Amino acid sequence: MGSTPYNATGDYQPATTIGLPVLYAWPPRPLAALRYLLYDLLFPWGYFFFALAFVTWEYLTPSLATMAVLEPGWIALLWLRNAGLLCLLAGGLHWWLYLRRSQQGEFKFHRRWLATDDDKFLWRDQVRDNMFWSLVSGVTFWTAYEATTYWIYASGWLPVVEYANPLYHFAMFYVVIAWSTAHFYFVHRLLHYGPIYRVAHELHHRNVNTGPWTGISMHPLEHSIYFSVFVLWWFVPVHPIVIILTGFFQGLSPAISHSGFDFVKAGRLRLSTGDWYHQLHHQYFNFNYGNTPTPFDRLFGSWHDGSRASLERHRQRQRARRRQAAS
Ligand SMILES: [Zn+2]
Ligand SMILES: [Zn+2]
Repeated sequence: MGSTPYNATGDYQPATTIGLPVLYAWPPRPLAALRYLLYDLLFPWGYFFFALAFVTWEYLTPSLATMAVLEPGWIALLWLRNAGLLCLLAGGLHWWLYLRRSQQGEFKFHRRWLATDDDKFLWRDQVRDNMFWSLVSGVTFWTAYEATTYWIYASGWLPVVEYANPLYHFAMFYVVIAWSTAHFYFVHRLLHYGPIYRVAHELHHRNVNTGPWTGISMHPLEHSIYFSVFVLWWFVPVHPIVIILTGFFQGLSPAISHSGFDFVKAGRLRLSTGDWYHQLHHQYFNFNYGNTPTPFDRLFGSWHDGSRASLERHRQRQRARRRQAAS
């Protein structure tokens, strides 16, 4: 498995643990916080989505005049655009990491490759199963919410923010991240509630070992909840680029965070791809419900920093809770 660190039980175990971002340090560390906001949080994928959102608005989105009337034609085009972008990103990562196996197992979270003979997946094939749920249900719900949001603006229910200052867009990007990650934490807690978990979220969790197509491989009920992140823009007026960014953050970025590799290597280039924090959620289920930019897991005691000590602490707490429930 190359030079990647693994512990005695075979789990991925880098030397560092996952701490709360310096953004929340007390006393404040403004320079370090600024570096976190401009570099750690956004480089490289945030900047990539930011640029892609401008291109998408300019060349790959119907005009608001067209979208003033809900018609299948332009909605189908939006679906094709979203599906195409997801195929390029998830498909590209999948090709590079799993088909070409460009870096073999280096920086891979799991020792196993994706399942090709497992009853819990459609057609017994994890990648086909993940592609099916992502494209048929995921992109459809993403597009439905996105189209409805444009239509609300195009038909005059809400004023479009015309303000085209790049600083406005950059500031709004942070609002999108803050809103999306907060929304994700709370809907994710809801999805772990017994009956909803069994009906819906269990489907995403069939993937203990994740790949790029796992990102939005979810049950339609989960998609309907997960993509409701757009609803904020039904009440708070924004520029359409913010709507596109919301879709990218929710629909495309999980392909990266679920890639199954902590880093992707291309020659001398090494880019951060995976999200070890979320990978631990897939592995152990009961903690790391949110993302690292939000402090909710820390506030509510479900932050697992990846260390064996932290895992043991969580397990002890679970055992105590189970004992309490049984007595
Ligand atoms: Zn996941
Ligand atoms: Zn979950």
